[in-house]
Amino acid sequence: MNNNYEIVVGLEVHAELSTKTKIFCGCKNEFGAEVNTNVCPVCMGLPGTLPVLNEQVVEYAIKMGHALNCKINGTTKQDRKNYFYPDLPKSYQISQFDIPLCENGYLDVLVGEEVKRIGVTRIHIEEDAGKLIHDDTLGGTLADYNRCGVPLIEIVSEPDIRSADEAKAYLDTIHSILLYLGISDAKMQEGSVRCDVNVSVRPVGSKEFGTRVEMKNVNSFSAAHRAITYEAKRQIKVLEKGGEIQQETRKWDDAKGVNVILRTKEDAQDYRYFPDPDLLTFIVSQEKIDQLKSEIPELPVAKTMRYMSDYGLSRAESELLAINKNTADFFEECVNLKKCEPKSIANWILGDIFKVVNERKCEIKDLAITSKNLVEMISLIENKTISNAAGKTVLEVIIDNDKDPKEIVKEKGLAQVSDTSALLAIVEKVLSKNEKAVADYKAGKTNVIGFLVGQCMKESRGQGNPAMLKDMVIAEIEK
Ligand code: ADP
Ligand code: MG
Ligand code: ZN
Repeated sequence: MNNNYEIVVGLEVHAELSTKTKIFCGCKNEFGAEVNTNVCPVCMGLPGTLPVLNEQVVEYAIKMGHALNCKINGTTKQDRKNYFYPDLPKSYQISQFDIPLCENGYLDVLVGEEVKRIGVTRIHIEEDAGKLIHDDTLGGTLADYNRCGVPLIEIVSEPDIRSADEAKAYLDTIHSILLYLGISDAKMQEGSVRCDVNVSVRPVGSKEFGTRVEMKNVNSFSAAHRAITYEAKRQIKVLEKGGEIQQETRKWDDAKGVNVILRTKEDAQDYRYFPDPDLLTFIVSQEKIDQLKSEIPELPVAKTMRYMSDYGLSRAESELLAINKNTADFFEECVNLKKCEPKSIANWILGDIFKVVNERKCEIKDLAITSKNLVEMISLIENKTISNAAGKTVLEVIIDNDKDPKEIVKEKGLAQVSDTSALLAIVEKVLSKNEKAVADYKAGKTNVIGFLVGQCMKESRGQGNPAMLKDMVIAEIEK
Protein backbone atom coordinates (compact mmCIF):
# COMPACT_ATOMS: atom_id res chain seq x y z
CA MET A 1 0.00 0.00 0.00
CA ASN A 2 1.18 3.51 -0.86
CA ASN A 3 2.15 5.20 2.42
CA ASN A 4 1.32 8.69 1.16
CA TYR A 5 -2.40 7.95 1.43
CA GLU A 6 -4.76 7.26 4.28
CA ILE A 7 -7.74 4.93 3.90
CA VAL A 8 -11.13 6.09 5.14
CA VAL A 9 -13.92 3.56 5.56
CA GLY A 10 -17.55 3.74 6.70
CA LEU A 11 -19.68 0.64 7.00
CA GLU A 12 -23.40 -0.01 6.66
CA VAL A 13 -24.29 -3.30 8.31
CA HIS A 14 -27.67 -4.93 7.77
CA ALA A 15 -28.66 -7.59 10.28
CA GLU A 16 -31.82 -9.68 10.11
CA LEU A 17 -33.50 -9.91 13.48
CA SER A 18 -34.48 -13.34 14.77
CA THR A 19 -38.09 -12.52 15.65
CA LYS A 20 -40.71 -15.26 15.30
CA THR A 21 -42.75 -13.29 12.78
CA LYS A 22 -42.04 -10.64 10.16
CA ILE A 23 -41.96 -6.91 10.84
CA PHE A 24 -45.46 -5.92 9.61
CA CYS A 25 -47.45 -9.18 9.35
CA GLY A 26 -47.87 -12.52 11.07
CA CYS A 27 -45.88 -14.52 8.51
CA LYS A 28 -43.15 -16.73 9.91
CA ASN A 29 -39.64 -15.30 9.86
CA GLU A 30 -37.59 -18.36 8.96
CA PHE A 31 -34.72 -19.15 6.64
CA GLY A 32 -34.81 -21.98 4.13
CA ALA A 33 -38.57 -22.49 3.77
CA GLU A 34 -39.95 -23.56 0.40
CA VAL A 35 -40.17 -20.57 -1.94
CA ASN A 36 -43.18 -18.27 -1.53
CA THR A 37 -44.71 -20.18 1.37
CA ASN A 38 -44.14 -17.58 4.11
CA VAL A 39 -46.12 -14.85 2.41
CA CYS A 40 -49.43 -13.06 2.86
CA PRO A 41 -51.22 -10.07 1.29
CA VAL A 42 -49.37 -7.63 3.59
CA CYS A 43 -45.83 -8.69 2.75
CA MET A 44 -46.79 -9.26 -0.89
CA GLY A 45 -47.81 -5.61 -0.98
CA LEU A 46 -51.38 -6.16 -2.16
CA PRO A 47 -53.54 -3.03 -2.24
CA GLY A 48 -55.85 -2.47 0.70
CA THR A 49 -53.70 -4.20 3.30
CA LEU A 50 -52.34 -2.48 6.38
CA PRO A 51 -48.99 -3.13 8.06
CA VAL A 52 -48.83 -3.48 11.87
CA LEU A 53 -45.44 -2.99 13.50
CA ASN A 54 -43.99 -5.95 15.43
CA GLU A 55 -43.07 -4.72 18.92
CA GLN A 56 -40.26 -7.25 19.25
CA VAL A 57 -38.44 -5.60 16.34
CA VAL A 58 -38.42 -2.27 18.17
CA GLU A 59 -37.18 -3.87 21.37
CA TYR A 60 -34.37 -5.75 19.63
CA ALA A 61 -33.27 -2.63 17.77
CA ILE A 62 -33.25 -0.59 20.99
CA LYS A 63 -31.09 -3.25 22.63
CA MET A 64 -28.58 -2.90 19.81
CA GLY A 65 -28.80 0.86 20.26
CA HIS A 66 -27.89 0.55 23.93
CA ALA A 67 -25.08 -1.88 23.16
CA LEU A 68 -23.62 0.68 20.73
CA ASN A 69 -24.06 3.58 23.19
CA CYS A 70 -26.70 5.36 21.11
CA LYS A 71 -29.27 7.93 22.00
CA ILE A 72 -32.67 6.21 21.69
CA ASN A 73 -35.44 8.23 20.08
CA GLY A 74 -38.55 7.27 22.03
CA THR A 75 -40.75 9.02 19.51
CA THR A 76 -40.11 8.06 15.94
CA LYS A 77 -41.74 7.10 12.68
CA GLN A 78 -41.38 5.04 9.56
CA ASP A 79 -40.84 6.25 6.03
CA ARG A 80 -41.24 4.87 2.57
CA LYS A 81 -38.13 4.53 0.44
CA ASN A 82 -39.39 4.26 -3.11
CA TYR A 83 -37.66 2.29 -5.79
CA PHE A 84 -38.61 -0.25 -8.38
CA TYR A 85 -36.99 -3.65 -8.43
CA PRO A 86 -38.62 -7.07 -8.87
CA ASP A 87 -37.59 -8.24 -5.39
CA LEU A 88 -39.80 -5.54 -3.87
CA PRO A 89 -43.47 -6.13 -4.72
CA LYS A 90 -44.71 -2.91 -3.06
CA SER A 91 -42.14 -0.84 -4.97
CA TYR A 92 -41.25 0.82 -1.72
CA GLN A 93 -39.38 -0.35 1.32
CA ILE A 94 -40.61 0.71 4.75
CA SER A 95 -37.55 2.13 6.47
CA GLN A 96 -36.71 5.16 8.61
CA PHE A 97 -35.40 8.37 7.14
CA ASP A 98 -34.88 11.47 9.27
CA ILE A 99 -35.64 10.07 12.74
CA PRO A 100 -33.91 6.73 13.23
CA LEU A 101 -34.75 4.74 16.35
CA CYS A 102 -31.16 5.04 17.60
CA GLU A 103 -28.42 7.56 16.78
CA ASN A 104 -25.13 9.18 17.85
CA GLY A 105 -23.49 6.15 19.37
CA TYR A 106 -20.08 4.57 19.24
CA LEU A 107 -18.34 1.24 19.50
CA ASP A 108 -14.93 0.66 21.03
CA VAL A 109 -13.09 -2.12 19.25
CA LEU A 110 -9.71 -3.73 19.82
CA VAL A 111 -7.26 -3.43 16.98
CA GLY A 112 -3.92 -5.00 17.86
CA GLU A 113 -3.14 -3.62 21.30
CA GLU A 114 -5.14 -0.42 20.75
CA VAL A 115 -8.70 0.50 21.61
CA LYS A 116 -10.27 2.33 18.71
CA ARG A 117 -13.54 4.23 19.05
CA ILE A 118 -15.76 4.15 15.96
CA GLY A 119 -18.76 6.43 15.76
CA VAL A 120 -22.17 4.94 15.04
CA THR A 121 -24.26 7.44 13.11
CA ARG A 122 -27.56 5.64 13.39
CA ILE A 123 -29.44 2.38 13.72
CA HIS A 124 -32.81 2.19 12.06
CA ILE A 125 -35.39 -0.53 11.51
CA GLU A 126 -36.62 -1.55 8.08
CA GLU A 127 -37.99 -4.48 6.13
CA ASP A 128 -35.95 -6.79 3.96
CA ALA A 129 -36.75 -7.32 0.28
CA GLY A 130 -37.33 -10.66 -1.44
CA LYS A 131 -34.68 -12.77 -3.09
CA LEU A 132 -34.20 -13.18 -6.81
CA ILE A 133 -33.12 -16.58 -7.99
CA HIS A 134 -31.16 -16.49 -11.23
CA ASP A 135 -31.09 -19.91 -12.77
CA ASP A 136 -30.13 -20.69 -16.35
CA THR A 137 -31.92 -24.04 -16.31
CA LEU A 138 -35.15 -22.15 -15.63
CA GLY A 139 -34.38 -19.76 -18.43
CA GLY A 140 -34.76 -16.65 -16.34
CA THR A 141 -35.12 -15.14 -12.91
CA LEU A 142 -37.61 -16.22 -10.26
CA ALA A 143 -38.71 -14.16 -7.29
CA ASP A 144 -38.94 -15.67 -3.81
CA TYR A 145 -40.89 -13.32 -1.53
CA ASN A 146 -40.34 -15.27 1.71
CA ARG A 147 -37.76 -12.68 2.76
CA CYS A 148 -40.06 -9.70 2.06
CA GLY A 149 -40.85 -8.13 5.42
CA VAL A 150 -38.15 -9.91 7.38
CA PRO A 151 -37.08 -7.36 10.00
CA LEU A 152 -33.70 -5.69 9.61
CA ILE A 153 -31.65 -3.22 11.51
CA GLU A 154 -29.22 -1.10 9.55
CA ILE A 155 -26.22 0.08 11.53
CA VAL A 156 -24.41 2.98 9.85
CA SER A 157 -20.92 3.87 11.05
CA GLU A 158 -19.19 7.22 10.84
CA PRO A 159 -16.26 7.33 8.40
CA ASP A 160 -13.95 6.73 11.37
CA ILE A 161 -12.35 3.51 10.20
CA ARG A 162 -8.80 3.91 8.92
CA SER A 163 -7.72 0.47 7.71
CA ALA A 164 -8.98 -2.90 6.54
CA ASP A 165 -7.92 -4.36 9.90
CA GLU A 166 -10.02 -1.83 11.80
CA ALA A 167 -12.99 -2.60 9.55
CA LYS A 168 -12.60 -6.32 10.21
CA ALA A 169 -12.36 -5.73 13.98
CA TYR A 170 -15.49 -3.54 13.89
CA LEU A 171 -17.46 -6.14 11.92
CA ASP A 172 -16.33 -9.03 14.13
CA THR A 173 -17.35 -7.05 17.22
CA ILE A 174 -20.78 -6.14 15.80
CA HIS A 175 -21.29 -9.79 14.88
CA SER A 176 -20.34 -10.92 18.36
CA ILE A 177 -22.67 -8.36 19.98
CA LEU A 178 -25.64 -9.49 17.86
CA LEU A 179 -25.11 -13.00 19.21
CA TYR A 180 -24.56 -11.82 22.80
CA LEU A 181 -27.85 -9.93 22.66
CA GLY A 182 -29.59 -12.90 21.05
CA ILE A 183 -31.32 -10.63 18.54
CA SER A 184 -29.99 -12.16 15.32
CA ASP A 185 -28.61 -15.52 14.34
CA ALA A 186 -25.97 -13.51 12.48
CA LYS A 187 -25.20 -16.20 9.94
CA MET A 188 -23.13 -14.67 7.17
CA GLN A 189 -23.54 -17.74 4.96
CA GLU A 190 -27.33 -17.38 5.08
CA GLY A 191 -27.11 -13.66 4.43
CA SER A 192 -28.54 -12.69 7.79
CA VAL A 193 -25.71 -10.17 8.21
CA ARG A 194 -24.62 -8.17 5.18
CA CYS A 195 -22.52 -5.10 4.78
CA ASP A 196 -21.96 -2.29 2.34
CA VAL A 197 -18.46 -0.96 2.38
CA ASN A 198 -17.70 2.73 1.69
CA VAL A 199 -14.10 3.52 0.87
CA SER A 200 -12.18 6.67 0.08
CA VAL A 201 -8.54 7.66 0.29
CA ARG A 202 -6.85 10.97 1.00
CA PRO A 203 -3.28 12.24 1.20
CA VAL A 204 -1.84 11.70 4.68
CA GLY A 205 -2.36 14.86 6.73
CA SER A 206 -5.31 16.06 4.65
CA LYS A 207 -8.36 17.11 6.67
CA GLU A 208 -10.90 16.67 3.92
CA PHE A 209 -12.34 13.36 2.90
CA GLY A 210 -11.90 12.03 -0.59
CA THR A 211 -14.82 10.96 -2.77
CA ARG A 212 -16.26 7.67 -1.57
CA VAL A 213 -17.08 4.54 -3.50
CA GLU A 214 -19.68 2.16 -2.10
CA MET A 215 -19.19 -1.56 -2.59
CA LYS A 216 -22.02 -4.07 -2.62
CA ASN A 217 -21.96 -7.86 -2.61
CA VAL A 218 -19.43 -8.12 0.19
CA ASN A 219 -20.52 -11.44 1.64
CA SER A 220 -18.17 -12.08 4.51
CA PHE A 221 -16.04 -10.07 6.88
CA SER A 222 -12.84 -11.44 5.42
CA ALA A 223 -14.18 -10.43 2.00
CA ALA A 224 -14.66 -6.91 3.44
CA HIS A 225 -10.98 -6.87 4.32
CA ARG A 226 -9.99 -7.90 0.80
CA ALA A 227 -12.48 -5.52 -0.84
CA ILE A 228 -11.20 -2.52 1.13
CA THR A 229 -7.58 -3.29 0.35
CA TYR A 230 -8.37 -3.69 -3.34
CA GLU A 231 -10.51 -0.56 -3.61
CA ALA A 232 -8.01 1.64 -1.77
CA LYS A 233 -5.25 0.50 -4.14
CA ARG A 234 -7.48 1.13 -7.13
CA GLN A 235 -8.28 4.67 -6.00
CA ILE A 236 -4.67 5.49 -5.20
CA LYS A 237 -3.67 4.33 -8.68
CA VAL A 238 -6.29 6.60 -10.27
CA LEU A 239 -5.17 9.60 -8.19
CA GLU A 240 -1.48 8.96 -8.84
CA LYS A 241 -2.21 9.07 -12.56
CA GLY A 242 -3.80 12.48 -12.06
CA GLY A 243 -7.34 11.12 -12.34
CA GLU A 244 -10.41 11.75 -10.23
CA ILE A 245 -12.51 9.35 -8.17
CA GLN A 246 -16.15 9.14 -9.23
CA GLN A 247 -18.80 8.70 -6.56
CA GLU A 248 -20.25 5.38 -7.59
CA THR A 249 -21.46 1.99 -6.46
CA ARG A 250 -19.27 -0.96 -7.37
CA LYS A 251 -19.84 -4.68 -7.08
CA TRP A 252 -17.22 -6.77 -5.30
CA ASP A 253 -16.36 -10.11 -6.89
CA ASP A 254 -14.62 -12.06 -4.17
CA ALA A 255 -13.73 -15.04 -6.36
CA LYS A 256 -11.88 -12.82 -8.84
CA GLY A 257 -10.68 -10.38 -6.18
CA VAL A 258 -11.81 -7.34 -8.16
CA ASN A 259 -14.77 -4.96 -8.27
CA VAL A 260 -16.73 -3.59 -11.22
CA ILE A 261 -18.92 -0.54 -11.58
CA LEU A 262 -22.62 -1.12 -10.88
CA ARG A 263 -24.03 2.40 -11.13
CA THR A 264 -23.13 5.99 -10.54
CA LYS A 265 -24.33 7.25 -7.20
CA GLU A 266 -28.00 7.77 -6.44
CA ASP A 267 -28.90 10.42 -3.87
CA ALA A 268 -31.41 10.23 -1.04
CA GLN A 269 -33.75 12.46 -3.04
CA ASP A 270 -33.95 9.81 -5.75
CA TYR A 271 -35.84 7.65 -3.28
CA ARG A 272 -38.59 10.23 -2.64
CA TYR A 273 -38.74 9.37 1.03
CA PHE A 274 -41.96 10.31 2.80
CA PRO A 275 -43.62 9.25 6.09
CA ASP A 276 -45.62 6.06 5.62
CA PRO A 277 -49.28 7.11 5.94
CA ASP A 278 -50.26 3.57 6.95
CA LEU A 279 -48.07 3.63 10.04
CA LEU A 280 -48.43 6.02 12.94
CA THR A 281 -45.70 7.76 14.84
CA PHE A 282 -44.68 5.29 17.48
CA ILE A 283 -43.69 6.00 21.04
CA VAL A 284 -41.57 3.89 23.33
CA SER A 285 -41.73 4.93 26.99
CA GLN A 286 -38.58 5.94 28.83
CA GLU A 287 -39.38 3.20 31.30
CA LYS A 288 -39.29 0.59 28.54
CA ILE A 289 -36.08 2.06 27.11
CA ASP A 290 -34.45 1.88 30.56
CA GLN A 291 -35.70 -1.63 31.16
CA LEU A 292 -34.15 -2.79 27.87
CA LYS A 293 -30.88 -1.17 28.90
CA SER A 294 -30.85 -3.13 32.14
CA GLU A 295 -31.09 -6.34 30.12
CA ILE A 296 -27.84 -5.74 28.19
CA PRO A 297 -25.25 -8.32 29.28
CA GLU A 298 -21.54 -7.66 29.62
CA LEU A 299 -20.33 -7.33 26.02
CA PRO A 300 -17.25 -8.84 24.37
CA VAL A 301 -14.88 -5.88 24.51
CA ALA A 302 -15.63 -5.21 28.19
CA LYS A 303 -15.17 -8.91 28.86
CA THR A 304 -11.84 -8.94 27.07
CA MET A 305 -10.60 -6.06 29.21
CA ARG A 306 -11.82 -7.74 32.39
CA TYR A 307 -10.17 -11.06 31.55
CA MET A 308 -6.90 -9.22 31.05
CA SER A 309 -7.05 -7.36 34.35
CA ASP A 310 -8.71 -10.02 36.55
CA TYR A 311 -7.01 -13.13 35.26
CA GLY A 312 -3.73 -11.82 33.85
CA LEU A 313 -4.46 -13.20 30.40
CA SER A 314 -2.98 -11.62 27.29
CA ARG A 315 -5.15 -9.47 25.07
CA ALA A 316 -5.20 -12.10 22.34
CA GLU A 317 -6.19 -14.89 24.76
CA SER A 318 -8.86 -12.73 26.38
CA GLU A 319 -10.32 -11.74 23.04
CA LEU A 320 -10.43 -15.31 21.75
CA LEU A 321 -12.36 -16.33 24.84
CA ALA A 322 -14.67 -13.30 24.89
CA ILE A 323 -15.60 -12.87 21.23
CA ASN A 324 -17.72 -16.04 21.19
CA LYS A 325 -20.49 -16.02 23.79
CA ASN A 326 -20.48 -19.82 24.16
CA THR A 327 -16.77 -19.91 24.83
CA ALA A 328 -16.98 -17.03 27.29
CA ASP A 329 -19.88 -18.64 29.16
CA PHE A 330 -17.99 -21.92 29.46
CA PHE A 331 -14.76 -20.22 30.56
CA GLU A 332 -16.58 -18.22 33.24
CA GLU A 333 -18.45 -21.29 34.47
CA CYS A 334 -15.08 -23.01 34.95
CA VAL A 335 -13.52 -20.00 36.67
CA ASN A 336 -16.50 -19.65 39.01
CA LEU A 337 -15.94 -23.16 40.32
CA LYS A 338 -12.77 -21.69 41.88
CA LYS A 339 -10.91 -24.99 41.81
CA CYS A 340 -7.98 -24.05 39.63
CA GLU A 341 -6.11 -21.18 38.01
CA PRO A 342 -8.06 -19.16 35.39
CA LYS A 343 -4.87 -19.08 33.34
CA SER A 344 -4.75 -22.89 33.18
CA ILE A 345 -8.42 -23.02 32.20
CA ALA A 346 -7.75 -20.52 29.40
CA ASN A 347 -4.77 -22.57 28.18
CA TRP A 348 -6.76 -25.80 28.01
CA ILE A 349 -9.73 -24.16 26.28
CA LEU A 350 -7.64 -22.27 23.74
CA GLY A 351 -5.30 -25.21 23.15
CA ASP A 352 -6.63 -28.75 23.26
CA ILE A 353 -10.35 -27.95 23.34
CA PHE A 354 -10.24 -25.40 20.49
CA LYS A 355 -8.35 -27.95 18.43
CA VAL A 356 -11.31 -30.32 18.69
CA VAL A 357 -13.82 -27.49 18.16
CA ASN A 358 -12.01 -26.46 14.98
CA GLU A 359 -11.65 -30.01 13.70
CA ARG A 360 -15.33 -30.71 14.22
CA LYS A 361 -16.39 -27.20 13.12
CA CYS A 362 -18.62 -26.93 16.18
CA GLU A 363 -18.92 -24.89 19.36
CA ILE A 364 -17.91 -25.82 22.89
CA LYS A 365 -21.56 -26.18 23.84
CA ASP A 366 -21.88 -28.98 21.26
CA LEU A 367 -19.28 -31.06 23.12
CA ALA A 368 -20.15 -33.27 26.08
CA ILE A 369 -17.41 -31.71 28.20
CA THR A 370 -18.65 -30.04 31.38
CA SER A 371 -17.01 -27.23 33.30
CA LYS A 372 -16.96 -29.47 36.37
CA ASN A 373 -14.98 -32.24 34.66
CA LEU A 374 -12.52 -29.89 32.98
CA VAL A 375 -11.79 -28.07 36.23
CA GLU A 376 -11.44 -31.38 38.08
CA MET A 377 -8.91 -32.59 35.53
CA ILE A 378 -6.92 -29.36 35.73
CA SER A 379 -6.90 -29.44 39.51
CA LEU A 380 -5.50 -32.98 39.39
CA ILE A 381 -2.60 -31.55 37.40
CA GLU A 382 -2.24 -28.57 39.72
CA ASN A 383 -2.07 -30.76 42.83
CA LYS A 384 0.42 -33.00 41.00
CA THR A 385 -1.75 -36.11 41.04
CA ILE A 386 -1.28 -36.41 37.29
CA SER A 387 1.18 -34.99 34.78
CA ASN A 388 0.22 -32.62 32.01
CA ALA A 389 0.57 -35.46 29.53
CA ALA A 390 -1.83 -37.62 31.55
CA GLY A 391 -4.19 -34.62 31.61
CA LYS A 392 -4.39 -34.80 27.83
CA THR A 393 -5.38 -38.47 28.07
CA VAL A 394 -8.11 -37.59 30.56
CA LEU A 395 -9.30 -34.76 28.30
CA GLU A 396 -9.70 -37.15 25.39
CA VAL A 397 -12.25 -39.03 27.47
CA ILE A 398 -14.12 -36.15 29.10
CA ILE A 399 -14.46 -34.20 25.88
CA ASP A 400 -17.13 -36.66 24.73
CA ASN A 401 -18.23 -38.28 28.01
CA ASP A 402 -19.50 -36.96 31.28
CA LYS A 403 -17.11 -39.01 33.37
CA ASP A 404 -15.31 -38.13 36.60
CA PRO A 405 -11.62 -37.48 35.84
CA LYS A 406 -10.64 -39.18 39.14
CA GLU A 407 -12.27 -42.39 37.92
CA ILE A 408 -10.44 -42.16 34.61
CA VAL A 409 -7.12 -41.67 36.39
CA LYS A 410 -7.82 -44.76 38.51
CA GLU A 411 -8.98 -46.92 35.59
CA LYS A 412 -6.09 -46.00 33.34
CA GLY A 413 -3.48 -45.93 36.11
CA LEU A 414 -2.48 -42.38 35.28
CA ALA A 415 -1.58 -41.21 38.76
CA GLN A 416 1.78 -39.53 38.79
CA VAL A 417 4.68 -41.33 40.38
CA SER A 418 6.18 -39.16 43.13
CA ASP A 419 7.79 -42.02 44.94
CA THR A 420 11.49 -41.12 45.16
CA SER A 421 12.93 -44.61 44.90
CA ALA A 422 10.84 -45.45 41.83
CA LEU A 423 11.86 -42.19 40.18
CA LEU A 424 15.52 -42.64 41.10
CA ALA A 425 15.57 -46.00 39.33
CA ILE A 426 14.27 -44.30 36.21
CA VAL A 427 16.79 -41.47 36.41
CA GLU A 428 19.70 -43.87 36.81
CA LYS A 429 18.57 -45.89 33.85
CA VAL A 430 18.18 -42.86 31.60
CA LEU A 431 21.55 -41.36 32.62
CA SER A 432 23.39 -44.58 31.93
CA LYS A 433 21.82 -44.79 28.50
CA ASN A 434 22.68 -41.18 27.62
CA GLU A 435 26.33 -40.71 28.44
CA LYS A 436 26.88 -38.11 25.75
CA ALA A 437 24.12 -35.87 27.08
CA VAL A 438 25.51 -36.23 30.59
CA ALA A 439 28.97 -35.25 29.34
CA ASP A 440 27.47 -32.29 27.49
CA TYR A 441 25.77 -31.15 30.67
CA LYS A 442 29.02 -31.38 32.59
CA ALA A 443 30.72 -29.38 29.84
CA GLY A 444 28.29 -26.54 30.49
CA LYS A 445 25.53 -27.29 27.96
CA THR A 446 22.92 -27.22 30.70
CA ASN A 447 20.05 -27.03 28.24
CA VAL A 448 20.31 -30.80 27.63
CA ILE A 449 18.42 -31.10 30.91
CA GLY A 450 15.14 -30.77 29.01
CA PHE A 451 16.06 -33.72 26.84
CA LEU A 452 17.05 -35.87 29.82
CA VAL A 453 13.87 -35.09 31.76
CA GLY A 454 11.89 -35.84 28.60
CA GLN A 455 13.56 -39.25 28.40
CA CYS A 456 12.71 -39.89 32.05
CA MET A 457 9.07 -38.94 31.41
CA LYS A 458 9.00 -41.33 28.49
CA GLU A 459 10.52 -44.07 30.58
CA SER A 460 7.82 -43.48 33.23
CA ARG A 461 5.16 -43.58 30.50
CA GLY A 462 4.17 -40.03 31.33
CA GLN A 463 3.55 -40.75 34.97
CA GLY A 464 6.71 -39.38 36.53
CA ASN A 465 6.51 -36.08 38.36
CA PRO A 466 8.52 -33.86 35.98
CA ALA A 467 9.57 -31.32 38.62
CA MET A 468 10.94 -34.04 40.87
CA LEU A 469 12.60 -35.77 37.94
CA LYS A 470 14.37 -32.58 36.94
CA ASP A 471 15.76 -32.04 40.45
CA MET A 472 16.87 -35.65 40.65
CA VAL A 473 18.57 -35.64 37.25
CA ILE A 474 20.61 -32.57 38.22
CA ALA A 475 21.45 -33.99 41.62
CA GLU A 476 22.55 -37.31 40.11
CA ILE A 477 24.80 -35.72 37.47
CA GLU A 478 26.38 -33.33 39.92
CA LYS A 479 26.97 -36.04 42.52
P1 ADP B 1 -26.07 6.18 1.57
O1 ADP B 1 -27.45 5.92 2.07
O2 ADP B 1 -25.99 6.98 0.35
O3 ADP B 1 -25.25 4.94 1.48
P2 ADP B 1 -25.29 7.04 4.17
O4 ADP B 1 -25.01 8.43 4.63
O5 ADP B 1 -26.43 6.30 4.76
O6 ADP B 1 -25.39 7.14 2.61
O7 ADP B 1 -24.04 6.14 4.41
C1 ADP B 1 -22.84 6.56 4.04
C2 ADP B 1 -21.76 5.68 4.60
O8 ADP B 1 -20.57 6.08 3.96
C3 ADP B 1 -21.53 5.84 6.07
O9 ADP B 1 -21.15 4.61 6.66
C4 ADP B 1 -20.36 6.82 6.14
O10 ADP B 1 -19.55 6.65 7.26
C5 ADP B 1 -19.60 6.46 4.90
N1 ADP B 1 -18.86 7.59 4.34
C6 ADP B 1 -19.28 8.85 4.16
N2 ADP B 1 -18.31 9.60 3.59
C7 ADP B 1 -17.26 8.78 3.40
C8 ADP B 1 -15.95 8.95 2.82
N3 ADP B 1 -15.54 10.11 2.34
N4 ADP B 1 -15.15 7.87 2.79
C9 ADP B 1 -15.55 6.69 3.25
N5 ADP B 1 -16.75 6.47 3.80
C10 ADP B 1 -17.61 7.49 3.86
MG1 MG C 1 -25.64 3.04 1.39
ZN1 ZN D 1 -46.81 -11.68 5.42
